[in-house]
Amino acid sequence: MHRIVIVGGGAGGLELATRLGNRLGKSGRARVTLVDRCAVHVWKPLLHEVATGSLDTHAHEIAYAAHSHWNHFTFVHGEMTGLDRERRCVRLGPMLEAEDGGDEVLPSRDLEYDTLVLALGSRTHFFGVPGAQEHAIALDTLQQAERLRKRLLQVCQRKRALGATEAHEAVDVAIIGGGATGVELAAELRRMESTLRQFRLLSESPRAAMRITLLERGDRVLPALPQRVSDTTQTTLEKMGIAVKVQTSVTRVGPEHVEVDGGASIAADITIWAAGIKAPGVLASLDGVAVNHINQVKVTSSLQSETDANIFALGDCASCSWTAGVMVPPRAQAAHQQAMFLFKALSARVKGGRVGEFRYVDHGSLVSLGSPTAVGSVAGINSSGRFFVEGFVAKLMYAALYRKHLVAVSGLRRTVFAIAAQGLGRLLAPRVKLH
Ligand SMILES: Cc1cc2nc3c(=O)[nH]c(=O)nc-3n(C[C@H](O)[C@H](O)[C@H](O)COP(=O)(O)OP(=O)(O)OC[C@H]3O[C@@H](n4cnc5c(N)ncnc54)[C@H](O)[C@@H]3O)c2cc1C
Repeated sequence: MHRIVIVGGGAGGLELATRLGNRLGKSGRARVTLVDRCAVHVWKPLLHEVATGSLDTHAHEIAYAAHSHWNHFTFVHGEMTGLDRERRCVRLGPMLEAEDGGDEVLPSRDLEYDTLVLALGSRTHFFGVPGAQEHAIALDTLQQAERLRKRLLQVCQRKRALGATEAHEAVDVAIIGGGATGVELAAELRRMESTLRQFRLLSESPRAAMRITLLERGDRVLPALPQRVSDTTQTTLEKMGIAVKVQTSVTRVGPEHVEVDGGASIAADITIWAAGIKAPGVLASLDGVAVNHINQVKVTSSLQSETDANIFALGDCASCSWTAGVMVPPRAQAAHQQAMFLFKALSARVKGGRVGEFRYVDHGSLVSLGSPTAVGSVAGINSSGRFFVEGFVAKLMYAALYRKHLVAVSGLRRTVFAIAAQGLGRLLAPRVKLH
């Protein structure tokens, strides 16, 4: 039987494994295996909400073991550390007790494939800025998002207990990167702050507020989106009391401050790095698989590796041409479209048919600006033209993106139950997770 191995069960990989499992795995036409270094999936665009406690992960996790059983594919818990292209084997590293070490639970293993799909996503790119890796927190994984949330709560508690004056109780947060992640995080932090005040984890005095600074190297926030979206976003953030500094490059990150070009220093009890991505380093170490300067696998228009037709790549870890000189952007929307394409392409490949060509369609972008509002630019019918949207309608459209992902992986019935359970959970708990 044809063996399809997908490495990475994120926005693209999980959807692909689910669809292929239900089509090829169920009918016995292929053996579909998904590998992930985590045991559960949480949709990555939710991580800023996890980091600010406005989303309880337990209500949003999908356990790969159960999900694979229900959708007719096999799940292997492990981290890809290498590849033997001649033997067509993915090498998985030893599984340890904890993420950061401990006893060995499982030794290294090899997993054979006929078709391999690399869907490993991306990591934060610190661009070699001194101190960034040591002192700034990134938002790549669920663990990092949880760590950031706990750190925020601890700093607020410490300042509240030890601050000599109200001004000393203020918590300084610096966010580096004015793209969608940085902007959404800044807005969510304001929401977190109001709940912390409500439960007296922060002082009521406005002088003891969270002082949030958003630093962007370009000349506007959301540089990849239309000017009007950037302008509205900056105005909204400033109304929320967030200091937006554009044309500001960070040159060094210290334990309690950030240095910018020109030598100025910005106080930061917590620094969050949300500027730039690169694909995981393991991809650059795979013998005979061509990658670009940020470790993304170079793929053809059929999403096949330029150097090995048995290897496909999708999502953030793939370097795929869109229009002349422009690459498909690293977004959940692209990972979803590529998963849909590969579902059809691999179904045909198993039968010995042609794989076809992938075409990316930009449906626009939406950025959440906290609880009641969002802003963005969306495509019209047939993807023609662009429409500016903001406010509650934009927020509903933004929320629909996650529901769409849930329907794609869990089906309509489970999604309805999951939404109902999440709604009930919200009624019973504070708006922000406090522990
Ligand atoms: C805070 C935040 C907000 C975002 N908001 C938006 C948004 O509003 N809209 C949008 O379109 N995009 C958004 N994005 C970007 C979006 O999340 C990514 O583009 C998308 O998740 C990419 O999907 P993927 O399948 O390529 O990778 P991912 O979803 O990142 O999944 C990669 C998977 O690979 C696994 N993995 C990694 N390395 C290994 C290994 N060596 N072995 C085994 N498994 C491995 C990981 O555990 C993970 O499950 C946001 C990102 C962040 C961080």
